[in-house]
Amino acid sequence: MRHVIALDVGGTGMKAALVGDDGALLHRARRATGRARGPEAVLAGILDFAAELHAHGVEQYGESAGAAGIAVPGIVDEHTGTAVYAANLGWRDVPLRALLADRLGVPVALGHDVRTGGLAEGRIGAGRGADRFLFVPLGTGIAGAIGIDGRVEAGAHGFAGEIGHIVVRPGGAPCPCGQRGCLERYASASAVSEAWAAACGDPDADAAHCARAVASGDPDAVRVWREAVDALADGLVTALTLLDPRTLIIGGGLAEAGEVLFQPLREAVRRRVTFQKLPAIVPAALGDTAGCLGAGLLARDLLDTPDPSEVTA
Ligand SMILES: [Zn+2]
Repeated sequence: MRHVIALDVGGTGMKAALVGDDGALLHRARRATGRARGPEAVLAGILDFAAELHAHGVEQYGESAGAAGIAVPGIVDEHTGTAVYAANLGWRDVPLRALLADRLGVPVALGHDVRTGGLAEGRIGAGRGADRFLFVPLGTGIAGAIGIDGRVEAGAHGFAGEIGHIVVRPGGAPCPCGQRGCLERYASASAVSEAWAAACGDPDADAAHCARAVASGDPDAVRVWREAVDALADGLVTALTLLDPRTLIIGGGLAEAGEVLFQPLREAVRRRVTFQKLPAIVPAALGDTAGCLGAGLLARDLLDTPDPSEVTA
C-alpha cells in the first residue's frame, strides 16, 4: 500500500506516523526527544526512529514508503532543508533533509513545526476550504502560520508568521527575543499561567486553572484573562489588517478554554476593527496531531509534484 512517513519533533517528545494515500494515520508511535543527551544524540535518535518506521512500513504493507516529511522547531530553511537554529535542541545548521534522505533512501521534505501544523489545520482541519487563513497556536510561546492557497508562507528567511513577537505593549515586559512588550509575553499559555499564579498566590496555578476561575466569576481571574485577551486582540488585529485572512484559527493550550476564550476574543477583535473585514475566528481542530499530519502532507506533496529534473520542455 502506498504510504509516507511523517515525523513531528518537539522539545520533549517526537510523534511519528505512517500515513496512507487517503491521509489516514496507519501506524502511530511516540518517543522522547531526549535533548538532555545532547544535539548529536537527538539527531541520531530521529534518524533511528524514522528508519524503524520505514522498516515497519515495508514489513506491514509490502512496499517502501514513497517519501518522508519531518517538522522541527526553531528556524527552518525549507528550501535548503536545513534546521538553521533550534535553541531547545541545541542545533545549528543541521542539513536534516539530506541526512534523513540518505538514511531512508526516499525523498524528504523538512518543515517548521508551527507552519507544518498550520498546513494541516488549513487543508484538513479547522481551515478546510479557506483560501486564506492564519493559524495562531497559544502555547509556551505564540507563533503563526500564514496560509495562502493551500500552502504556508515561510518568508524570505524562514521567519514569516512570528506574530508572538509583534510589540503590543511598547516599553512593556522584556522578551527573550530582545524586544519589549511582545504579544507572547501577555497572551501565551505560559504568560497567563505566570500572571494568574502571581494574582492568586498559588505558584502551581496555570492557565487552565485561570480559565476555570474565570468561568466561575472570580474577579482576579477575570482581570488576568481580560488583559491577555486584550493583548491578543491587539496582535491579531495587526495581523488581519496586514493579511486579510478568511479564517483565523486559534490553537494551543490556551484555546482549550473554549468559549471562555473565544467569546471575549471575538468581541475584542470586533470592537477594534474599523474598515477591516472580520475573519471567522475558530478553534483549531487537530490538537497535537497537527504537526504529524502536516508532515505527512509535506511528504505526500513530494509524491504529487514531479521532480523538476524529470520534467522535459
Ligand atoms: Zn519577542
